[in-house]
Amino acid sequence: MDIRAAELVDKLAGEHALALDDYEYLVEHLDEEVRDLLAEHARAAREPIYGHDVFVRGLIEFSSYCKNDCYYCGLRASNASCERYRLTAGQILACADRGYELGFRTFVLQGGEDPRFTDERLCAIVRALKEAHPDCAVTLSVGERTRESYARLREAGADRYLLRHETATPEHYARLHPAGMSWEHRMQCLRDLRELGFAVGAGFMVGSPFQTSANLARDLAFIQEFQPEMCGIGPFVPHHATPFANEPAGTLEQTLGLLSIIRLIKPNILLPATTALGTIHPRGRELGMEAGANVVMPNLSPGDVRAKYLLYDGKICTGDEAAECRRCLEMRMAGCGYTVVTDRGDPRIV
Ligand code: SAH
Ligand code: SF4
Repeated sequence: MDIRAAELVDKLAGEHALALDDYEYLVEHLDEEVRDLLAEHARAAREPIYGHDVFVRGLIEFSSYCKNDCYYCGLRASNASCERYRLTAGQILACADRGYELGFRTFVLQGGEDPRFTDERLCAIVRALKEAHPDCAVTLSVGERTRESYARLREAGADRYLLRHETATPEHYARLHPAGMSWEHRMQCLRDLRELGFAVGAGFMVGSPFQTSANLARDLAFIQEFQPEMCGIGPFVPHHATPFANEPAGTLEQTLGLLSIIRLIKPNILLPATTALGTIHPRGRELGMEAGANVVMPNLSPGDVRAKYLLYDGKICTGDEAAECRRCLEMRMAGCGYTVVTDRGDPRIV
């Protein structure tokens, strides 16, 4: 095994921090032996906090309309072949009711940046959800909004917010997004969310176009510095109707290595094994758990809209119903020794 990489893994496991060039060295030396060592340490770091518990979030993909044009995403405004839909408030609440019966205690409302969902409409939905299910957490994942908007959503009762930083390198950000979007604004949004008292989820795609080891090192240093409550990482997967249609997908191996590193940076972080990881490998999510993840996010969206919410090609579970997804994941997790729990799934204090 590469001796320096092994030393860095030990150091990270002990100190939960590394210098930027050490992260870069580690990212460049994620061979099988190093990944195994990382995973072993990551499981040991997770064990005293979460045991073998897996938190589930019920994902409600409520709008496929988006005014943004991120180059990597199938929902981008320029994709004329994307079938657009939005759920009504009543449909969203019905998804949550069904989810509650199935044991979900967190609902994630995710969508494109759809101007139809004004603060007023979105706040009303958040309020109704919290009123119907006061013992549940509501997570929003609806992109960049103003600080005032975030403040209103927080006041309406939203508990958490997922906004991946996508890349901690401004030049890389500029190659993934059109000129109208800025890295500075994305970072400002994350700071605003934090200050407003949301539990914040950052994150990035693994293997996104133009990404280098130096970029990934910066992402890890950013996670170390910002200490988000959650971190969503998954492989980039190309979508046929985007400018990145012919770019290669991120790899299983690199994603697993990075999951373990992130667990070691922040042992109590909420770390999902994402649908994208399950898309590039049939056991991607199980392998994600073994690498140190502790969250899964099955789909609660109604069956007839699922196939229209396609960020990337080949997305799994688009033909299933909520109950099937829940059961399937429970089986998958049990199959590798983990237990899906009925719990809001807040970070546990060490
Ligand atoms: N509009 C919201 C939420 C939906 S997109 C937002 O942008 O935050 C949620 C995440 O999906 C993005 O942050 C991005 O990291 C990921 N994503 C988009 N396109 C993808 C692709 N082609 N492959 C993998 N992940 C992708
Ligand atoms: Fe819209 Fe989000 Fe896709 Fe960007 S990543 S195009 S903001 S849905």
